[in-house]
Amino acid sequence: LGQVPDRLKPDATTDMVCGYCSTGCSLRVHLKEGEAVNLTPTTEYPVNLGMACPKGWEALNVLDADDRATRPLLRDASGELKAVSWDKALRTFCDKFKQIGEEHGPESVAFLSTGQLVTEEMALLGSLAKFGMGMLHGDGNTRQCMATAATAYKQSFGFDAPPFTYQDFEESDVIVLVGSNLCVAHPIMWERVCRNPNNPEIIVVDPRRTETAMAATLHLPIRPKSDLAFFYSLAHILCREGWILRDFVDAHTNGFDGFAQFVQAYTPERAAAESGIPAETIEKVALTIHEGKRVSFWWTMGVNQNYEGVRIAQSMINLALMTGNMGRPGAGANSVTGQCNAMGSRIFSNTTGLLAGRDFLNPTHRQEVADILDIPVEKLPTENSLPYHQILEGIRTGTIKGLWVICTNTSHSWIHQSDARDLLEKLDFLVVQDMYHTTDTAQQADLVLPAAGWGEKEGTFINSERRYGVVKRVRRPPGEALPDFSIFRLVAEYWGVGEMFRRWETPEATLGILKELSRGQPCDITEIGDYATIDHAGGVQWPCTESPEAIDQQRRLFEDGHYYHEDGRAKFLFEDSRAMPEPPDTEYPFLLLTGRGAASQWHTQTRTGKSAVLRKLYPQGVYVEMNPEDAAIAGLESYDKASVWSRRGELKATVFVTPTVQPGQLFIPMHYEETNRLTLPHFDPYSHQPSYKDCAVAIAPAN
Ligand code: SF4
Repeated sequence: LGQVPDRLKPDATTDMVCGYCSTGCSLRVHLKEGEAVNLTPTTEYPVNLGMACPKGWEALNVLDADDRATRPLLRDASGELKAVSWDKALRTFCDKFKQIGEEHGPESVAFLSTGQLVTEEMALLGSLAKFGMGMLHGDGNTRQCMATAATAYKQSFGFDAPPFTYQDFEESDVIVLVGSNLCVAHPIMWERVCRNPNNPEIIVVDPRRTETAMAATLHLPIRPKSDLAFFYSLAHILCREGWILRDFVDAHTNGFDGFAQFVQAYTPERAAAESGIPAETIEKVALTIHEGKRVSFWWTMGVNQNYEGVRIAQSMINLALMTGNMGRPGAGANSVTGQCNAMGSRIFSNTTGLLAGRDFLNPTHRQEVADILDIPVEKLPTENSLPYHQILEGIRTGTIKGLWVICTNTSHSWIHQSDARDLLEKLDFLVVQDMYHTTDTAQQADLVLPAAGWGEKEGTFINSERRYGVVKRVRRPPGEALPDFSIFRLVAEYWGVGEMFRRWETPEATLGILKELSRGQPCDITEIGDYATIDHAGGVQWPCTESPEAIDQQRRLFEDGHYYHEDGRAKFLFEDSRAMPEPPDTEYPFLLLTGRGAASQWHTQTRTGKSAVLRKLYPQGVYVEMNPEDAAIAGLESYDKASVWSRRGELKATVFVTPTVQPGQLFIPMHYEETNRLTLPHFDPYSHQPSYKDCAVAIAPAN
């Protein structure tokens, strides 16, 4: 510590889970007189083993930004956002929403939330909004990242249950990564792949030659949206050759024979014609899967953000089931989620599914929740919420007039952004609750509620491998900003339903309620203990029905071959592929792909854009990647300025010429405010997740 200035010398440390991605690394926060002064990655935590990516290292530095929301802001008659007291803000919020609800019915006010609240806040928000305030509709930005995986698992397994543990990265001998640039999007998970001692085959299926593809043993640059044909053809070959683990299929699944018949039409030659991958290569991949002892399939946004994403995810689940690559070390069909608490949102946000995996449409489930929460069952909605895009459509049709947006940036991140912005302008009252008052969405708000951020409040996040980890308060929120949990409790009081939420006194007390809600469900955490127990155990995976100290915390699901459908079996689900809704044509000859640009940036840069270090690691102006052949034809070179336009909007970008993008395709990172001017609003029919990665665009030198 000789080189450390006195002001940074810690007198204590505490460990807590990072607040960015779903990896769920633990960071050791250095404290001086109870306040955070620095951090380093936690060496003993079973997730990150002493590693962190640049976002984690910079997690504290983004909290001191000048544009932190420090007081409630209310738009006055002149159109300016002006500071007001919490009392005035909360009275205005409740009066406005009540007035709208009384005039137009409970469906006229809704909320949009996030996968970045702690689990206890999500559960309180969902319960307050639906049972206390009487809202019918609320959804999360998790609709943009993992709804597809959640739906695929629920349909195939009977519950939204990612089956893996990160240890599987180190134990596979064949790792198939699909639509996942793990190196960049989940760098610590990639480190786990690199620690694998088995010299694994790493097969990357991705139209772009990403950093991960470059490090793979085999990169398959399939044509965008040919995934179904490709994976069904692998199943075709496995069936043709008899490379099926029939005992497993017969004992633990339903629907295989229909699937085997279905894939007869998906010959390698057909898949080759659709995907651009030679038939011999497809045969070789099928053989690799057959010969692999421990084959794991992993996917991320390239699959989830796809108009047929659910069926693509299930095409991998089917491959894992038919080869018996489930419930074993190094195996599985594994969805890697995006946000730090996407998994918490999947279980407890009470949006399109009732708490802990129950169903709003099921009277037994509603009664169970009412009994546990000690509220009249009539308070529980009898219908499912609209998903995100239909809430926005509700604004267009005039049925939704009041919206409460919590910790998400709709005006930047929603597909076909200008339309979303126009819709928010149509609202009678828009409330935005956020750490920063400068987000694109907060700038449109009638009322801004200042929220505490990561490190300024407590609770739990659940990571991609179902691990609860603890988040702690290691610094004071700025000004009058409050933890989201406190804001929700205040809203309950001002709404007049405080009594209903007396038991939800603190986040830790709320964990006790979540345990009760989970009892007997696949996500049962009745024995998870308190925050200190979770901390001491190095995080705890669900389910947890025994003392965390007594059970292995590198657990995978389905080791007993029992799935969550009533008959205990997994289902083979499949469907023919559909045509791309907006294929390139002569007017718009390129297909636009969007995605994460670098490990140093996160989503809409709301937080990461505040760090000088992270800004230095990433180009600040929007750029577009273009293949050299196309660039030559268009007369463009690297660092030229170009216009890129679609049927919905236009942006200016710096050109980066690179062979990592195939001819006929362009890539623009999602982090830039301009990117979603171009994207096409279309959705998976089962998960309602937006398909961000296929729209037709044109490019030319900028004037
Ligand atoms: Fe945080 Fe994810 Fe980076 Fe780990 S990989 S430090 S969880 S952002």
